[in-house]
Amino acid sequence: MRKLFAYFDWNILNCGWRGHVLYAPTETDLAKRISIETPNGVAWRCLRCEAYVVGKPHSVGPAQDAPLVVRGRALRDALILRAYAVERVVRGALMAFLAVGVYLFKDSRHALNDLFETYVPLLQPAASKMGVDLDTFGPVRLVDRILQINPDTLNWVIVMIVLYSFLLLVQGVGLWSMKRWGEYVAAIATSVFIPFEIHEIVEKVTWIRVSALILNLLLVFYIVWTKRLFGLRGGVQAFVDEMHRESVMEIEHAAIAGPKPAES
Ligand SMILES: [Zn+2]
Repeated sequence: MRKLFAYFDWNILNCGWRGHVLYAPTETDLAKRISIETPNGVAWRCLRCEAYVVGKPHSVGPAQDAPLVVRGRALRDALILRAYAVERVVRGALMAFLAVGVYLFKDSRHALNDLFETYVPLLQPAASKMGVDLDTFGPVRLVDRILQINPDTLNWVIVMIVLYSFLLLVQGVGLWSMKRWGEYVAAIATSVFIPFEIHEIVEKVTWIRVSALILNLLLVFYIVWTKRLFGLRGGVQAFVDEMHRESVMEIEHAAIAGPKPAES
């Protein structure tokens, strides 16, 4: 995974998405070093991808007030964790809808069950063509199981679905915010479900279950390792030191590097 990402420039990807970050320091000396005259006007060095870009700087001020740009390894981490965040939020929202659906229709369970038993076999031929076996397909199985539950425990099931949905949404928000608490919540909550995921695979191996397990295992290892959770690799102190070291290196790098040819 590390090798795969080594050839990938996250900075340029992010600049393509959000635009470059051009900053003009008021220190003339430094300003000269990170800008270059071109026939089209002055080009400034982007604080994120380091390409020289012709245009007006977005802001002007002393070097120490330059915007802190998430770049390099920190940016790669942010993008990967935010992809997981989106997945968690989507799944959490689906679970919330499911809870509402079960709550609204729990009194008409029998009607629903009939509907389910009529339509699932009808959809099976089409699903088979896409390689999906509806009898073992997660959402279908989930609804099927819920419909079999006795009415007394159904309320508990709704509570469990709401809690699960809430947990997914909290993970999503936590991962998106890049806050340490969110990373802990995501690491712990994801680990808690791994035994269930293994149990599911032991029951029946499907590519959806296997890839879900692999993705979740990767998330736990990635987040615990890169964010140094649970005191690993020096813990929070080492993490803060690393961030600080990288930003200091960044400023020194910017000061030492002279103008380089503009990249097209
Ligand atoms: Zn850029």
